[in-house]
Amino acid sequence: MTIAMPKPNAKIMARRAAIVAAMRAIVPGEGVVDAGVEMRVFETDALTAYRQMPLVVVLPETVSQVAAVLRYCHENEVPVVPRGAGTSLSGGSLPLEDGVLLVLSRFNRILEVDFDNRCAVVQPGVTNLGITREVEHAGFYYAPDPSSQIACSIGGNVAENSGGVHCLKYGLTANNLLGVEFVTIEGEVIRLGGKHLDSEGYDLLGLLTGSEGLLGVVTEVTVRILQKPETARAVLIGFPTSEQAGTCVAAIIARGIIPGGMEMMDAPAIRAAEDFVHAGYPLDVEALLIVELDGPGAEVDHLLSEVEGIARENGATTARVSQSDAERMTFWAGRKAAFPAVGRISPDYLCMDGTIPRKELPRVLAGMRALSQKHRLAVANVFHAGDGNLHPLILYDASKDDELQRAEDFGADILRLCVEVGGVLTGEHGVGIEKRDLMPEMFGEDDLKHQQRVKCAFDPRHLLNPGKMFPVLHRCAELGRLHVHKGQLPFPELPRF
Ligand SMILES: Cc1cc2nc3c(=O)[nH]c(=O)nc-3n(C[C@H](O)[C@H](O)[C@H](O)COP(=O)(O)OP(=O)(O)OC[C@H]3O[C@@H](n4cnc5c(N)ncnc54)[C@H](O)[C@@H]3O)c2cc1C
Repeated sequence: MTIAMPKPNAKIMARRAAIVAAMRAIVPGEGVVDAGVEMRVFETDALTAYRQMPLVVVLPETVSQVAAVLRYCHENEVPVVPRGAGTSLSGGSLPLEDGVLLVLSRFNRILEVDFDNRCAVVQPGVTNLGITREVEHAGFYYAPDPSSQIACSIGGNVAENSGGVHCLKYGLTANNLLGVEFVTIEGEVIRLGGKHLDSEGYDLLGLLTGSEGLLGVVTEVTVRILQKPETARAVLIGFPTSEQAGTCVAAIIARGIIPGGMEMMDAPAIRAAEDFVHAGYPLDVEALLIVELDGPGAEVDHLLSEVEGIARENGATTARVSQSDAERMTFWAGRKAAFPAVGRISPDYLCMDGTIPRKELPRVLAGMRALSQKHRLAVANVFHAGDGNLHPLILYDASKDDELQRAEDFGADILRLCVEVGGVLTGEHGVGIEKRDLMPEMFGEDDLKHQQRVKCAFDPRHLLNPGKMFPVLHRCAELGRLHVHKGQLPFPELPRF
């Protein structure tokens, strides 16, 4: 492990048997897993370079069980890591050796579909795609579509503010979320928002979205559902250089066109995806754009010809428009399978996630090439080009001595470059442990302290997902949140790492 996690608290470890017994009293039957071999499946998320066995795994089925688990952990000062499907790419659901892993996968029911109000109320363990599957018979769908949508949970999507190829036009999770029910570390059940479009008071829903399991545990989610557009067509556009493709992306948006999706892949990613999925991608180009236009048929035809014209002005050498919905889906299948496809050409890869202003794409792509040489590692690029959200996949071999370290250094340099050009450290995968130590590249000490004051307001004992997001845990007392009586800090043993 090159990223340090908080040292396990020996006093908590010594109480393991009592903690397991308490969990069994709250969640009967098969809802508590404490045998080593059975806990092994939970030891990592999709950031598989990091593994850590939990103290115990708890799979509650009801909100009152979640509340009782959290109340017990609060009273007994036991850390808690919430987990949905475990597909986080930033180590957000990596367990802690001295912590309860609270898995929401049994919260898997669709509670209500309300077509009149165009929303669905679901439990957090329902998969992202499960929502669309439930409403598609009536011509509706849930718009944010992470490539992991077949597996990832909507609770995880809320915690990471996840995005996908169609978020350029339809917004991220935050823009499609109407309400949540969540449980605080003290076991209080709170509802924010609902079926109505706006909620009263501070935008606490916005605060909770993307909070990576550090503020509360989501137990119910209300999302907006949309009517499927009348027509959708995609065009594959090939370029001799990535810089030309990057310039074309900026030009399309500058012309006032907002495609349903606009994705870019570079040569290594195109080849890997084509070998895997046979999507019909051109192999003689250095960069590929997939641009989807949706809406009424006449509008789509008009916009497609505009996009093709802009592409030609920017040096495109090929353009192929989908002729059927099946062909459009095949175009997307290659893109959606790009991560596993790259997994076939390299023993390991690190998937980075930074966001930049669109017009900086050519500069950042050139910078990435130089960094690839500096760190002596190859990179395949797959990204949500329209949003300026990059996903460089750094190829390495973990069995070779220093390659993980070099891959992490390469990734850190890419994220520094994103910040340098006016971008941010993450677009949709979250900070987790992966980018935790890079937070000071973007935020000053005062900024970080302000963010932790919010954390202290929800979780003064820092029990929810500690070790994630913040490089240093400040005691809440230091941040002015808690009263210090006669110089005695309330939580002197809070870990610093
Ligand atoms: C192949 C692949 C492709 C991917 N593509 C995309 C993509 O296109 N776009 C994208 O945004 N992401 C993508 N991801 C990342 C990942 O799928 C998302 O971050 C997803 O939202 C995680 O959901 P999950 O249920 O797996 O959450 P987990 O991995 O279990 O947890 C993620 C975080 O959410 C917290 N959490 C989970 N459930 C709850 C809850 N109920 N209450 C409070 N906190 C909770 C956890 O503590 C953790 O911090 C991809 C991942 C993979 C493996």
